[in-house]
Amino acid sequence: MIQRSERLNNVSYDLCGPLYERAKELELLGHHITKLNIGNPAPFGFDAPAEVIETIVQHLRHAQGYSDHKGILSAREAIKDYYTSKGIADIHTDDIFLGNGLSELIMHAVQALLNEGDEVLVPSPDYPLWTAAVRFSGGKAVHYLCDEEAEWFPDVADIKSKISSRTRAIVIINPNNPTGAVYSKELLQELVNLAEQHNLVIFSDEIYDKILYENTPYTSTATLSDEVLCVTFSGLSKNYLAAGFRAGWMLLTGAKSKSAAYINGLNTLASLRVCSNVPAQYAIAVALKGQQHIHDLTKPTGRLGEQRAICYEKLTAIPGITCVKPKGAFYMFPKLDVKKFNIQDDQQFALDLLSEQHVLLVQGSGFNWQKPDHFRVVYLPEKAQLSQTMDKLANFLQTYQQG
Ligand code: PLP
Repeated sequence: MIQRSERLNNVSYDLCGPLYERAKELELLGHHITKLNIGNPAPFGFDAPAEVIETIVQHLRHAQGYSDHKGILSAREAIKDYYTSKGIADIHTDDIFLGNGLSELIMHAVQALLNEGDEVLVPSPDYPLWTAAVRFSGGKAVHYLCDEEAEWFPDVADIKSKISSRTRAIVIINPNNPTGAVYSKELLQELVNLAEQHNLVIFSDEIYDKILYENTPYTSTATLSDEVLCVTFSGLSKNYLAAGFRAGWMLLTGAKSKSAAYINGLNTLASLRVCSNVPAQYAIAVALKGQQHIHDLTKPTGRLGEQRAICYEKLTAIPGITCVKPKGAFYMFPKLDVKKFNIQDDQQFALDLLSEQHVLLVQGSGFNWQKPDHFRVVYLPEKAQLSQTMDKLANFLQTYQQG
């Protein structure tokens, strides 16, 4: 028997978990499945900006070799300029790391920090890679509550009550996946103050920082303090609709002088994997400096703006469903009336929907939400398909009773 590492105990990623496997089986049987399990824009007809694609094609010949383990300098300079323009002080290209998507950098940032039993404050619900990365690194993910009654903002009192002598870091996902919340400057300042008081590293996942609706103002966490070490993450996957190119970055700002050992650890991990996908690194400067097409898509008349409107309208018209309207990203995290549908097991709910209507959604527990009363919708399909999918969900729920 070949056993898997015990480090994988309690490590999961339900976006590609048992439901996804079942969906593939159904596809093999000839069924068409509407896959709303993952935020992958390309299969729904979204194109990366033309200049991004052209740059990668043009650079294929120059990009055959490895790059520096942190990434090519022109990309890191463009990232520096971008965050300097947002108001983040004292950025050095040496403190910027490029990765194969931001997923790889999340693993590095967490692995380089934690010892066995160290704690990280992770939002509930979260993007589940964060919880997985902490557990895989021997740490304990301590989930803090995001409050649906307060636009899904983090509950600061709950966070305070969960800080212990083992707490090393706090994860902030803003704009949020799966809730679509966009946090106010005041709320972020409170979190930054807490991090300062308790000497916590801030991991600020800002991969959706350009996907904002209704002119919602946006603050990058790192603009709010020089005293705390802030690791800011982003990439091309969402803002530039180029998830398959695997281009992400992380930027260290703030209390760098007292973080030299940690930064050295990040350097070691970056060099162990040699470098990230080099052709895609060339696209980063072009993307950041080029036209920001995503802003057209998020207008009320833009494709994402329209899909958000129709998805929200259709969802909230279904008896037994309520939902906070998202301000950013492309997800909704609706609430189910569990009494009405007698739901005790949210994965079973998602499996039943998949079997009956061939719609693949991920249940709330897949995002480390503790009650069986939520699920996530990805509103990337174009309007007609989205509308049909919501009709299927409504039909399914008309008679659904679990157990
Ligand atoms: N962080 C969040 C909040 C995400 O939603 C995602 C992808 O869905 C990622 C990180 C990973 O992105 P990447 O494609 O850059 O690995």
